[in-house]
Amino acid sequence: MDYLADRTKLIDASGIRKVFALAGKLKDPVNLSIGQPDFDVPDTVKDAAIDAIRKGFNKYSQTAGQEEVIACLKEKVSADYGWDNPPLMITDGVSGGLLLAFMALINPGDEVLVPDPYFVMYKHLVWMLGGTCVYINTYPDFHLSPEKVEAAITGKTKLILLNTPANPTGVVYTQQEVQAIAELAKKNDIIVLSDEIYEEYCYDGPNTSVGTYYDKSVILKGFSKSHATTGWRLGYATCSDKLAPLMEKMLMIQQYTFVCAPTPFQMAVPTMLECDTHAFVDAYHLKRDRVIAGLGKCFEIVKPGGAFYMFIKTPEKYPNASEFVKKAIENNVLIIPGNVFSEQDTHFRLGYVAPDEKLDQGIDILCKLAK
Ligand code: PMP
Repeated sequence: MDYLADRTKLIDASGIRKVFALAGKLKDPVNLSIGQPDFDVPDTVKDAAIDAIRKGFNKYSQTAGQEEVIACLKEKVSADYGWDNPPLMITDGVSGGLLLAFMALINPGDEVLVPDPYFVMYKHLVWMLGGTCVYINTYPDFHLSPEKVEAAITGKTKLILLNTPANPTGVVYTQQEVQAIAELAKKNDIIVLSDEIYEEYCYDGPNTSVGTYYDKSVILKGFSKSHATTGWRLGYATCSDKLAPLMEKMLMIQQYTFVCAPTPFQMAVPTMLECDTHAFVDAYHLKRDRVIAGLGKCFEIVKPGGAFYMFIKTPEKYPNASEFVKKAIENNVLIIPGNVFSEQDTHFRLGYVAPDEKLDQGIDILCKLAK
């Protein structure tokens, strides 16, 4: 195995994939491990992509994306952030945007502030680039206190990661929190990278984007979750003029890696932006409330304001979350242990993207295991 590059030793198969593999062996499991919407892509959006294929939009696009689609996204970003003609590129999902931004920003030895729990991809990418993750413990309420962020800043801090609404906690940072982090970042001249892939899924009030307060923010947005197009690999990266050189470098790296995002799916973006997805958001809002009402009786849960996850404390009779998850899987319920998303193994992630009867079954089984 000595032919493998050293960086491959820094990563391990995603713990989520391991649960997926187990799921394949169970008959009709209650699968609460899923991180993608269970509705199908709206018909108008499908039609727009099919139409684009028929019309011959099947070749490479410009590296940044199809011009007319970029114009459409810029208009939205200008309206949301007040940035005039902002630098913007279409990426291969938010995952693509993350890789490009990290490659363009992180030098070996740079420190990246990562609120813990975190989305799995962050730490592996930072490590592979030779960066160091400095975790900011956000237990027990998963909010990000500016004091903790300030305490973690050193002369090597390059980047602060924000993800709101968050995977795996579902927490939506308050406007005050985001503003305070923006001020800290400004004071210390640190770039903020904001992963806003769940922005549409906010149940108790709107999401606040750090870009509203800080012009050295890189904003990553996507369509995987909002329109159930996880297989289409579509997202976009934007920033204010202040970071235009960064976007230029991200674009160059895209030239030599992804080349472009899938052209026919790009062509469906204007339709996606017009498409009303409120019904999907409302459905997950009700599911959140259903699970809180059911599981809240037997578990300690921080009520999440968004996304479609909860990060729930493991009952005390289990030594750690992995043991509890093992028990849950033996009882046909798939959930993910907290150590996949965290430096500690005390909680589990439950995704409530499932039919109501499955949610009720899952609530029943998990409550029995907690007793
Ligand atoms: N960021 C977060 C927080 C996510 O949960 C995900 C998907 N699970 C992604 C980024 C990547 O999404 P995609 O590449 O499909 O846009």
